[in-house]
Amino acid sequence: MANRRHTFRLYPNKTQEKKLLETRRLHCYLYNACIADRNYEYRVNKKSITYLDQQNCLPEFKECWVEYKELHSQSLQATVKRVDFAFNSFFLGIRKRPKFQSIRKYSGWTYPAKSGWKAHTNGKHGALTLNDLRINLRMRGKTKTWGVPTTLTIVYRPTKREWYASITVNIPDVTPKFGAESDLEYKSMVAYDLGCATALTLYNGTEFEELENPRFTQKTEEKIKKQSKKLRRKRSPNHKKKIKASNRWRKNRKKVSQLQKKCANQRKNWQHQVTSEIASRYDIGVTEKLNIKGMTRKTKTSKGHKQKAGLNKSLLSVGFGELNKMLTYKIEEKGGLMIILDTKKIKPSQRCPECGHVHKEWANLSNRYHICDNCGFEIPRDKGSVMVMYNVANNKQKGLGTSLSKCGCLSSTSTNRKHTGSMKQLGQMKHQKFQLKEGVVLETPSSYEAG
Ligand SMILES: [Zn+2]
Repeated sequence: MANRRHTFRLYPNKTQEKKLLETRRLHCYLYNACIADRNYEYRVNKKSITYLDQQNCLPEFKECWVEYKELHSQSLQATVKRVDFAFNSFFLGIRKRPKFQSIRKYSGWTYPAKSGWKAHTNGKHGALTLNDLRINLRMRGKTKTWGVPTTLTIVYRPTKREWYASITVNIPDVTPKFGAESDLEYKSMVAYDLGCATALTLYNGTEFEELENPRFTQKTEEKIKKQSKKLRRKRSPNHKKKIKASNRWRKNRKKVSQLQKKCANQRKNWQHQVTSEIASRYDIGVTEKLNIKGMTRKTKTSKGHKQKAGLNKSLLSVGFGELNKMLTYKIEEKGGLMIILDTKKIKPSQRCPECGHVHKEWANLSNRYHICDNCGFEIPRDKGSVMVMYNVANNKQKGLGTSLSKCGCLSSTSTNRKHTGSMKQLGQMKHQKFQLKEGVVLETPSSYEAG
């Protein structure tokens, strides 16, 4: 089953909006409380708090803060989970240390499962019921594909005072339809690789194609920088000192947020265009397993720190994960196939596409142009690795086994997607933990008796 996310705009009336704002405030306070808890425990007791510790505290927390009792318990867990995600990505070096969130900026909350809400729609407009708030909201929006709704996130845009419902739906998998009746062909295969200098390198067996990073997002980013510099010179609000924002500051901030939105839209638009175009031309996509977390990780030594930061930025600005996801679902939607190769076994960037010799020194990212000392084959790095990937999927790569399954390759449709960190899984873990605790409790009296 594949998941797809759709966003609808919500139209609450005044009493409904009051309730929504109140709920958002409670979730924001919970978020901050969780951060404070983690910080305190670490500073005073040198103890790191896990998600489960905090989740198990929730019932007790609700006894103290009665207003939380009305809210859906899973949505509270999801907010605690947000703190966990924030800290985890901080530990990975992807973002800064999580800070307390201001209620002015806090976005919303999530219902991580099917319970607690209901969407009355078939993909075009409709209504949304939130059981814990006992409200029924009008909802507008259109989708191409609709399925079984699984999770819901309520999003508030404070600058525009707009409410949105972001719903993930489960849609049935399309089985690959190659054969006599279908017009899809095994031959139309493309191998692609994501890089930083060129965003995408494609190879279809005969010719290469390189796609540049979109320049327009960089231009918009420059504009954002310029405008935010202007913004910093204007009188910003200080709520502690009761200083109001100046009108110029407000106007300028609006400009910045509009530009940021524009940048995001441009990027998304570019991604959709590129992936739709590729998916329309090819029936089989070949790529390697991508480890963005590893690629964007903070360097541990001070040396090379800046270099890596630049790489991080360009990697994230193209939005690699997003691009891969889009291409996968677009190819699969038309009945095509996505083949994901095991990077460790195939080593596309270190292998010579001509003779299959593995060069360890090619692993270094600064090696942009590869010359094989075994057979004398010359090729730029990115092109070489897509060529290897294409050959492997075509069973023509020398120096490797002939069977795809031997190389440890996965087709995206055949793998069982892991639901990491899902609420169900966490529930099971919690269950196990409680069982362990009970075991300890049962044992202690007998040991006391023995002593
Ligand atoms: Zn060679």
